[in-house]
Amino acid sequence: MLDRADVPLAPLTTLRLGGRAKRLVTAYDEQSVVAVAREADGAGEPLLVLGGGSNVVLPDEGFDGTVLRIAVHGLAATQDGDRVLLTAGAGEEWESFVALCVADRLAGVEALSGIPGLVGGSPVQNIGAYGQDVAQTITAVRAYDRREKAVVALTDCGFSYRHSVFKDEPGRWVVLAVTFALTSSELSEPVGYAELARRLGVEVGERAPLGEVREAVLALRRGKGMVLDASDPDTRSAGSFFTNPLLTTEQLAALPEQPPSWPEADGRVKVSAAWLIERSGFGKGAFDGPVGISSKHTLALVNRGGGTTADLRRVASAVRDGVRGRFGVELVPEPVFVGEPL
Ligand SMILES: Cc1cc2nc3c(=O)[nH]c(=O)nc-3n(C[C@H](O)[C@H](O)[C@H](O)COP(=O)(O)OP(=O)(O)OC[C@H]3O[C@@H](n4cnc5c(N)ncnc54)[C@H](O)[C@@H]3O)c2cc1C
Repeated sequence: MLDRADVPLAPLTTLRLGGRAKRLVTAYDEQSVVAVAREADGAGEPLLVLGGGSNVVLPDEGFDGTVLRIAVHGLAATQDGDRVLLTAGAGEEWESFVALCVADRLAGVEALSGIPGLVGGSPVQNIGAYGQDVAQTITAVRAYDRREKAVVALTDCGFSYRHSVFKDEPGRWVVLAVTFALTSSELSEPVGYAELARRLGVEVGERAPLGEVREAVLALRRGKGMVLDASDPDTRSAGSFFTNPLLTTEQLAALPEQPPSWPEADGRVKVSAAWLIERSGFGKGAFDGPVGISSKHTLALVNRGGGTTADLRRVASAVRDGVRGRFGVELVPEPVFVGEPL
């Protein structure tokens, strides 16, 4: 365990924003994670759990409490019929985990290649891309429940689009390890996204070699600035800044223009947030100044250099208010705001 005082937090986030932490503890094993959480809770000290910092907006004022950085590593596999149950420590890097699954011919997470962050963060917003999300493969999450003061195994995480119990009750659970049920196969799960299927030369619903799916996803993501690259300021973001709004068919029909939309299982439609933002006057590269819209992806707000969280909040509010004014649709931020919500 590493325990330090007065530490800058911006370098620990992909946006490179945020002030200093009163205390930063990096915990390398489950026992230390639990001990630090118990100690902070016992002392009434604010606690912030941090993974790869790729989906958080930290205040310029910093965090007046303990930031607990999860660095619990380790992998364990068991056979379960024709599936492999692979358990990964919360501190494993997500992208390395996917690379390992593909190399070991385990299907189920290949379309999630290139997403930054750690395994422990993956269930929090049910990460998803290119037709896959982790709700399809996660079978259990081991976590420290700060309310019950006990380590628990959660098998129902209440997953939905970019949502889970971990977002319903923020801060209650500290994820220690995640178990995925993967299929032993040279081929991917059925490709569920038209743009990816086109790139692979297959139909939606067909399978393709695992390695080819991974490479195709990485190439598509790079073109949108969605793979971290220290030399490219367009990747200094928190990924997509707003989720795609879910509307009823009546709400959709009432819009002044019809956006691209996809039907959801519950009868609602998911509408393209990027399209709404563009049609509200905010194109790629919009906003002068240190924070603005990525030149490669309308949904990503980027810190071009020298920005502050206050700058980010101004830009995000302008985009949200613009879309509300033009379409009457309320955009919801995807990253977690620590401190003041947007
Ligand atoms: C360039 C880029 C591309 C992205 N693309 C995608 C994408 O395609 N799809 C997608 O879904 N997301 C995407 N994201 C968002 C992000 O990468 C994921 O949400 C990721 O899973 C966040 O993990 P993290 O470890 O970085 O979490 P953090 O940013 O460190 O934390 C996010 C939230 O989860 C909590 N948390 C983190 N770890 C734990 C833990 N062990 N226990 C309890 N709570 C925890 C934190 O307290 C915080 O509330 C992208 C981000 C970037 C920067």
